[in-house]
Amino acid sequence: MAAIVLTHAHSDHTGFAEALREETGVPVYVHADDESLAATGKRYGKNEASFLPYLRFGHAWRLLAHLAGAMKPKPVRELMTYSDGETLDVPGRPRVIHTPGHTSGHSSLYFEPAGALIAGDELCTLHPLTGARGPQLMPRAFNLSSAKCLDSLTKLTRVEAEVVRPRRAVARGRRGRRRSRASDRPDVVVEPRSRRVRTSHDPCGKEPRWRP
Ligand SMILES: [Zn+2]
Repeated sequence: MAAIVLTHAHSDHTGFAEALREETGVPVYVHADDESLAATGKRYGKNEASFLPYLRFGHAWRLLAHLAGAMKPKPVRELMTYSDGETLDVPGRPRVIHTPGHTSGHSSLYFEPAGALIAGDELCTLHPLTGARGPQLMPRAFNLSSAKCLDSLTKLTRVEAEVVRPRRAVARGRRGRRRSRASDRPDVVVEPRSRRVRTSHDPCGKEPRWRP
């Protein structure tokens, strides 16, 4: 492994980055605006909506149960920061597209020769709190600003990617068997240019309209 490149510094993305960095010395990259979040684990702003209204959905309870059983990631003690437009000197040489809104430093990574875009949590294919399926923004309870997320989405419509890799979503059935649909798979193809992205999916609050 040559490097760990984070799209943003939420703990479910930093994961075991610090343990791996300590053990192997690989550099960990993050946008400068998420540096303090990665280094301390402390959020610097409130998300735009409360989590509580989502508790009427079974999916939200399943997520809570999952998080309660997850280990708390260690803050990353040494970081390399990147900025918008930069091409990172790591395998694949991704270009950084700053796509704030989910967090301040959230960024998408464009692998131009491969025609692939890693969109991080700018998009997901399964609403983590309601279970609604299809390409969509993350819920307002997880975003600093959904309006900024929409501006970031507009920015991504200019990217000529054939494959977009959004947040991975895996659903489990009642007996714990993995359920999978095309829209849940990590190699899901979303066509940003087609504008077939649900941006008013959230039943727990009014969302800004997307005007690309
Ligand atoms: Zn996130």
